[in-house]
Amino acid sequence: MITRLSHLFLRTLRDDPADAEVPSHKLLVRAGYVRRVAPGVYSWLPLGLTVLRRVEQVVREEMNAIGAQEISLPALLPREPYEVTGRWTEYGDGLFRLKDRKGADMLLGPTHEELFALTVKGEYSSYKDLPVTLYQIQTKYRDEERPRAGILRGREFVMKDSYSFDLDEAGAKASYHAHREAYQRIFDRLGISYVVVAATSGAMGGSASEEFLAESEIGEDTFVRSPESGYAANVEAVVTPAPPSRPIDGLPAAVVHETGSTPTIATLVDWANGADLGRTVTAADTLKNVLVKTRVPGGEWELLAIGVPGDREVDAKRLEASLAPAEFELLGDADFAANPFLVRGYIGPKALLANGVRYLVDPRVVPGTAWITGADEQGKHVVDLVVGRDFTPDGTIEAAEVRDGDLAPDGRGTLVSARGIEIGHIFQLGTKYTDAFAVDVLGENGKPVRLIQGSYGVGVSRLVAVIAEQMHDDKGLRWPASVSPADVHVVIANKDEGARAGAESLAADLDARGLDVLLDDRPKVSPGVKFKDSELIGVPLTLVVGRGWADGTVEIKNRFDGSTREIAADDAVSEILTATGRGSR
Ligand code: ATP
Ligand code: MG
Repeated sequence: MITRLSHLFLRTLRDDPADAEVPSHKLLVRAGYVRRVAPGVYSWLPLGLTVLRRVEQVVREEMNAIGAQEISLPALLPREPYEVTGRWTEYGDGLFRLKDRKGADMLLGPTHEELFALTVKGEYSSYKDLPVTLYQIQTKYRDEERPRAGILRGREFVMKDSYSFDLDEAGAKASYHAHREAYQRIFDRLGISYVVVAATSGAMGGSASEEFLAESEIGEDTFVRSPESGYAANVEAVVTPAPPSRPIDGLPAAVVHETGSTPTIATLVDWANGADLGRTVTAADTLKNVLVKTRVPGGEWELLAIGVPGDREVDAKRLEASLAPAEFELLGDADFAANPFLVRGYIGPKALLANGVRYLVDPRVVPGTAWITGADEQGKHVVDLVVGRDFTPDGTIEAAEVRDGDLAPDGRGTLVSARGIEIGHIFQLGTKYTDAFAVDVLGENGKPVRLIQGSYGVGVSRLVAVIAEQMHDDKGLRWPASVSPADVHVVIANKDEGARAGAESLAADLDARGLDVLLDDRPKVSPGVKFKDSELIGVPLTLVVGRGWADGTVEIKNRFDGSTREIAADDAVSEILTATGRGSR
């Protein structure tokens, strides 16, 4: 196909859009791929739509290759199935809810575990039909709290979601692994640099899950890995290695001290090291109690205290993941006023437990460990407060920050962190949804068998932004051939009629060989502007028909390495076929 820039519905912009912070967002808007309609809601213009479709196609081919079958469910859904699983409420503010004219509750689907379970239940009734994997590539809706970076985090976005249904655990595992490998092939074909990391299951429920993160400094996810062991996990999923409990017998008694004005960990440590406690104290010897309030969607706010070693902060994302689907907020002045037993800067386990505040501690706070912590009075702390002797928390929570240099949870090596963008997520759901809808088939022995479900998502529209993010330079986009909006960008850079006709005939030859050609045939646009646009648009190869045409030469520019080669016009078609991998050998 030949796409002519003289007719293409495209306006490139010289300036970055005011609301764009990350390169992919700026470039996709400037190069005329997408346009904003509302926060997190975007239109796809011709070049953008072509790339989106090509990404979709790679995903589709790899899904089909593992035997998954494409179907399409509605995005407009009734409340009932989501009510049955509790997600109508649990999804909280992230769900787009609406009413139809009769007043019935409906929603715009954020993900379709319920509907796929029901769809399989509707059609299949015998073990002979299983296993089955179904998928769709469909528009999803989530009222994201912070839509961001254009199509990277949209409120409307395209997802490939697939769901496997198996008769037994072994089958479920095989389906999971087939997806894992399909995802690796997809992201390899797209030329993305990514890691596979252990993940939490979040609002989805279920057991094992892994995320595919595209490595990127602008990513919202932080992951850690141990180069020594190959361990890799989203920080949200890092399980803190707990030290063994210690014997309590013989430990010194807890003593309350006047510590003066010591409302911060640093001031407390200073006091402790001047107080002649007979040892050197560091922040890690103190127990910091952080107060938040939490609520399950639709429920009441409740106080929650989190005890972490004083050398660590509470990581909001880890806390959020641990509490999901409940949400949390930091306590405000009014909350402190309403709970006078909370003495800011001096909060200790005693008052928390005496007042029925749920108190969860970091896994390092094991029985037999002694801490310096608040004594619930202004200017007072307690030293040698021993877990299991002087107080017993309600449980543990993964909320403390994970730091570079921390011991890897598998005990081998230390952690280093980096940032990434989630591009795919695979879950073993177990029977959470099939239980909810009693999705059974008749087994071989005549007894009903509950199906085991898996759920697997790829952010198709997000991938367009991720590829742009990983592959661009200061001049513009640089698409990999697998998703580029065209195979070759032919630029007519000469007013001469002969050159124009020559470019037209080269474009026609390339088209005849099955290549997608973007032809810059705009009559009144200068070569300089055309070159700038071609760099901005980012097709891997540009063929320039310009000054050299009269001498029988043209130029091939490679957008990836920036190289330019002058070649004989007669060789142009075969050179381009070779460069695009379509050449006959
Ligand atoms: P995130 O942590 O980024 O919010 P998620 O864990 O909520 O993502 P899933 O429910 O696992 O996402 O959805 C599957 C895939 O859909 C994700 O891996 C991601 O690539 C994509 N995705 C999720 N939310 C969005 C969004 N708001 N905009 C674009 N793509 C999204
Ligand atoms: Mg996810």
